[in-house]
Amino acid sequence: MSQDSLFEKQYSLDDLTKKVDELKQKIVAADYRYYVLAEPSISDREYDSVFKELQDIEHAYPELQTQDSPTKRVGGQPLKEFKQFKHIIPMLSLSNTYTNQELLDFDRKVQQGLDSTDYAYACELKVDGVAISLHYSQGVLQRAITRGDGEFGDDITENIKTLPMLPLRIYDTSIITEIPEFEVRGEVYMEKLDFLNLNKEREEAGEKLYANPRNLTAGTLKLLDSSLVAKRPLKIVCYFLETHSPASSVSQSKNVELLKKMGFPISPYNEQVFSIQKVYEYIENWDAKRESLPFFIDGIVIKVDAISQQRILGFVARAPRWAIAYKYEALKAETKLLDITLQVGRTGAITPVAELQSVVLAGSTISRATLHNIDYIHSNDIRNKDFVIIEKGGDIIPKVVSSIKEKRSSDSIPFQFPQLCPCKVQSEIHRPEGEANYYCIHPNCPWQIRRRIEHFASRDAMDIEGLGEKVVDQFVELGLLQNVADIYDLYAKRDEILLLDRWGSKSIDNVLASIEKSKQKPYHRLLFALGIRYVGEGAAKNLAFHFGSMSALKNADIEEFMSVKDIGKSIAQSLIDFFADPQESTVIKRLELAGLTFAIDEEEFSQRTNEFTGFIFVLTGELESMTRKHASELIEKKGGKVSGSVSKKTNYLVAGTNAGSKHIAAQELAIPILNEQEFIQLLQISKPDTNN
Ligand SMILES: [Zn+2]
Repeated sequence: MSQDSLFEKQYSLDDLTKKVDELKQKIVAADYRYYVLAEPSISDREYDSVFKELQDIEHAYPELQTQDSPTKRVGGQPLKEFKQFKHIIPMLSLSNTYTNQELLDFDRKVQQGLDSTDYAYACELKVDGVAISLHYSQGVLQRAITRGDGEFGDDITENIKTLPMLPLRIYDTSIITEIPEFEVRGEVYMEKLDFLNLNKEREEAGEKLYANPRNLTAGTLKLLDSSLVAKRPLKIVCYFLETHSPASSVSQSKNVELLKKMGFPISPYNEQVFSIQKVYEYIENWDAKRESLPFFIDGIVIKVDAISQQRILGFVARAPRWAIAYKYEALKAETKLLDITLQVGRTGAITPVAELQSVVLAGSTISRATLHNIDYIHSNDIRNKDFVIIEKGGDIIPKVVSSIKEKRSSDSIPFQFPQLCPCKVQSEIHRPEGEANYYCIHPNCPWQIRRRIEHFASRDAMDIEGLGEKVVDQFVELGLLQNVADIYDLYAKRDEILLLDRWGSKSIDNVLASIEKSKQKPYHRLLFALGIRYVGEGAAKNLAFHFGSMSALKNADIEEFMSVKDIGKSIAQSLIDFFADPQESTVIKRLELAGLTFAIDEEEFSQRTNEFTGFIFVLTGELESMTRKHASELIEKKGGKVSGSVSKKTNYLVAGTNAGSKHIAAQELAIPILNEQEFIQLLQISKPDTNN
């Protein structure tokens, strides 16, 4: 039977189109509930299966794949460059104000312009992000443009499509009939917590940190590879609608309501008020509370609410007369710089820290702030004992931004970076070419030792409860711990510890039990815990599974390291240095004797072989004895690859029940199809036959 007739028997193209629409709507509704309302309506599993089904059909019938499909959210082919696009309505900036007096002036002009008729203001939080214009036609997103110079912006449609909370299509046909074409504007941003997590990953991998969420958002939107954008947790909030029809001609607040009805994420903090005094209250209220918001705001936007009144007021010098941005002061405070101290990280990097006279800034007491590095200190001419301005702007960590030169004492001298590490061994320090940081190069630098032991015991590494910063400090101070291997000798020192302050038999036994438990932690966690420079969690995993054991890893050369997924030259060199270090070798030997896990799980390892190397599998339908994810893992452990779609390169299609269009595609290409039983058999025998 030919594929066509087989297919026609089951579905007509019309049916299939309907099915695709149904699946899309289901996904869109689930996205909206999940991302906008934060009330998930279906399980992840159910969601994945609907998504997969849509992908499968679209793959088999590319003509059914549309630009608004939720499957576009995973990103597409990288672009060479962004196309420029002229804004239909120029994206003008608002006038800014910082003072209440200017706000009163603004209100007076509005009053005059409107001939003293009644008016209302729409107040909105000004999210600190990147403004974007979105064009929809027949309810479908056509284009997303950055502000650019206000006249022309970059077409970043593919990147914007990856934002899961943004509707790529509006399904409410009554709305679309009324407003077939419209433009929406919004602010793309990143939440503080997501930003911190991303930076934490970078720190672990030894990469340069991002300054603040706005810069990271702007940088992300300018990536040419949308599949990378899809991995970043960007969000959008929409605040402007233009339909060129009566539908959007009533008021700003009605427009936002309509945006909400169409499924756009809008701010829950908008407020309509009827006097400038109430605007004040709104401004002050949010100034006090802005620290507690999950994202940064840099001010408040105030708009005359009625569109008819906006039109009367019009524009002056390319800025609307009916709107203004009240900018909050960056959170600043003046205090005295008591001392510049140096902090040593686990890799030996030395960062200067400002020790400050305590000052309250945005509700929290600040007594330390970052000074970044020696170049920063010199270019801003910050000296010890200066009076300084500290700021907490779009950045999470307070920083010293300037010093008040008028208040500087006459005998003040520029800061000199010490030539020795502040640690007890007073090791010489060294600044590698092209790096901003100095490093302590002494292998026994006690500060590095502390940081390394803390890292080893931390939750994502060996997860040893009770071995936190304070305890590590105490134990290092007393010489109970000099390296991570000493942790496993603490049993023998139980009586000694019992004599110390703050320790009872219960607390010490809890720590010892947690230490014992850590011996069972998987090998890749140990590899990460060792704190090898540049080896973050991801690299540790890749290395663990590539080499299988510590002994294989130790014996590898630089080329072998670099053949591992995502391992570049600097990580490879760092591994070489690490294993060549006799002190590290001793530590590793002791950890092995202590009984830690030195290879990936026996069973796992035996399956991670190369029997399937060079073979590409595609999975479809539901398997009874395992999830698709598990099936993929089993294939990958044997060196095979799992692809999302059937092509000429596919070696096997594994089809469970309810297999969809992939089944058809595989038949068309004469690719061998395995049922679950056959697949399990294949996993048990050695090398699969080549069929194509
Ligand atoms: Zn040192």
